[in-house]
Amino acid sequence: MLNVLIIGNGQCGNRILDAINREAFGKKSRFAKFYSQQKYKSNVETIAINTAINDLKEMKFTKAKDRIHIPHLHGVGANRNVGKHVFEDNKAHIMKQIEERGNFDVAFVLTSASGGTGSSFSPMLIKEFKEKFDFPVYALVVLPFREEGTLYLQNAAFCLRDIRESGVDGIILADNQFLKQMGGNVESAYNGINDMIARRLLFLLDALDSEMMMVTDLGDFKTVMSGGAGLATIGFFEADSEMPVKSAIRQALSPSGLLFSTDVYDEASRSMVIIKGDRKYLSIDDISAEVEKLSSSVGHVFKGIIVRNEEFPQVLTVLTLESASELENLYSIAVDAINYEKQKKERVSNEKEVDRAFSQIDGMDPSY
Ligand code: GDP
Repeated sequence: MLNVLIIGNGQCGNRILDAINREAFGKKSRFAKFYSQQKYKSNVETIAINTAINDLKEMKFTKAKDRIHIPHLHGVGANRNVGKHVFEDNKAHIMKQIEERGNFDVAFVLTSASGGTGSSFSPMLIKEFKEKFDFPVYALVVLPFREEGTLYLQNAAFCLRDIRESGVDGIILADNQFLKQMGGNVESAYNGINDMIARRLLFLLDALDSEMMMVTDLGDFKTVMSGGAGLATIGFFEADSEMPVKSAIRQALSPSGLLFSTDVYDEASRSMVIIKGDRKYLSIDDISAEVEKLSSSVGHVFKGIIVRNEEFPQVLTVLTLESASELENLYSIAVDAINYEKQKKERVSNEKEVDRAFSQIDGMDPSY
């Protein structure tokens, strides 16, 4: 049995963690967190960390003892410099609470790249983990909608770089911009995206800790994640009717199944494909043919098969990327955002236009 730690930092990380706990409780009752046990096969500890108490209070499926509030007025206001100081001041307290949970085989840290708390806490927390513990740590990082503004874009660029330099064992990318076709208003798009991420992570945990017909384990996952440029994404497809397994695999590798925009045949470096379902849908020849097609352009592909009676085929793909053209696009927009913010600041401090306006009444008094 695997001992798994999942940490959600900041609002986005907290909400994805809550979606994971909701899926794991298996019911949508708001009292689930008080009365029921999580249905993980592995021993999973979940911890939510935030400076904003309201984000923690919003969580419906994560137990109170699993929510750590780091007081700092009303959050850190998207300022990563403030966030880093707050983490440093509270590091000992946070690490103590985590260490009390025991030993782990693997940890996942969930965060947005662009806010204040998650984006500044996550790289520093991962660095602490890598210095103190010897289990692998993976970051699941949510990229912003591109129209969310200059501060979020520049935060995303610096946060991702900080995470890469933290000693992390791999970064799984999920992109709000790419996933926004979920439709509806922002809130329902968030919920849709969070559910997508939660289901993929739970499938992954299931696959790493299951008795399978064809086995993939944590060692295989580590090998996949160590390939490529340290970046990865996850694909998923669940058939809602009888469907040839090869179509389900293709769907899980197609843009509609992925969390980040990439052409897997062009940019992926290593992969893991896990297929779940009733034995009658799992044609080994079809599975092998699809996996061979993928490995001819990707390199190594680990495959796993989990037999679940009476279930339609479900497929999870983990893909590490050797290049990511969409990330290059994001960085070029972020550079514009950083320059824009810099110029704006210079303009304000050089011209002091507002001061000039006030100076017009220097030495004058109001007359009534
Ligand atoms: P923090 O609390 O200071 O770490 O900031 P947030 O986590 O709110 O970061 C802001 C970024 O996260 C923006 O790019 C938002 O679009 C994104 N975000 C906030 N909440 C959610 C959510 O529930 N789901 C998703 N997918 N993205 C979110």
